[in-house]
Amino acid sequence: MSATIIDGKAIAARVRAEVASEVKAFIQSTGRTPGLATVLVGEDPGSVVYVGAKQRACVEAGMTPFDHRLGAGVSFEEVAELLGRLNEDQAVSGVLLQLPVPDQLDGPTLTGMIDPGKDVDGLTPVNAGRLALGLPGLRPCTPLGVLELLRSVDATVEGAEAVVVGRSNLFGKPMAQLLLAQNATVTMCHSRTRNLRAVCARADVLIAAVGRARLIEREFVKPGAVVIDVGMNRLTPEQAGNTSGLVGDVDFTAAVEVASAITPVPGGVGPMTIACLLRNTLDAARHRAGVQ
Ligand code: NAP
Repeated sequence: MSATIIDGKAIAARVRAEVASEVKAFIQSTGRTPGLATVLVGEDPGSVVYVGAKQRACVEAGMTPFDHRLGAGVSFEEVAELLGRLNEDQAVSGVLLQLPVPDQLDGPTLTGMIDPGKDVDGLTPVNAGRLALGLPGLRPCTPLGVLELLRSVDATVEGAEAVVVGRSNLFGKPMAQLLLAQNATVTMCHSRTRNLRAVCARADVLIAAVGRARLIEREFVKPGAVVIDVGMNRLTPEQAGNTSGLVGDVDFTAAVEVASAITPVPGGVGPMTIACLLRNTLDAARHRAGVQ
């Protein structure tokens, strides 16, 4: 058997086109344009690329971008002051603090200062708590993207055994909560999990977000499972050979023979994060404007 390969690029393009058309309708009906403010501290090369991509996507979707860049040596108070201004700014629907921030700053505390109604990354304690309690709120973008990918292959989530490997606040924990809300039986794994292979092999839906190249081998995958690979691991030029140099947490070549559906890296989960960020920004603007 060879699995269906889930085309995250195409699904993300569809979501982005839907958001762009809904943005047009929103502007027509309210006279307001949704705005996304990104805050980048320092010049971490990966973060510079991500923020640039978010800004471009925002423009393409017909939203107003607000691109704030601060030097790496900025103080906590200066970042907090900027976040406070963005919270108050009526033209800003969503605020995103690009993580990680430099060591002298406290990323989680700064993130927690974002108005929960503008928290389009869904990472504030208020939105994390709302998710845990099953209350409405903005949800983290990458887990939302994974749900969209699961829907694209009609994966059965209700009653299924779902295993999430990785327990980060950014991805693993909210992913598990979202699956639980859809009535999956959820197991979370981490670095202290005993016999990871046996636990993963129970999964009807297996989601890996670890950051270890090809940790999930063929024997970890139950025949017919849907496998979602969130990991992004950069290989050295020697390891990469003539490939893109980016690999996931799943040994794709082996798992594709066993799974029923699987995401590739690159081109799987990655593109969904920005698409869901745009959707969250529109949702935040709608909520603020009191429209559905
Ligand atoms: P993270 O904060 O880097 O944490 C990694 C998690 O993996 C931790 O919970 C850790 O366990 C667990 N872990 C480490 N080694 C393990 C092992 N040998 N067996 C089982 N679990 C193990 O996680 P993250 O920020 O969610 O990132 C994970 C990966 O996803 C990275 O490659 C990242 O680049 C990628 N990612 C991609 C996107 C996207 O596509 N847009 C978004 C987010 C993340 P402990 O908690 O016990 O330390």
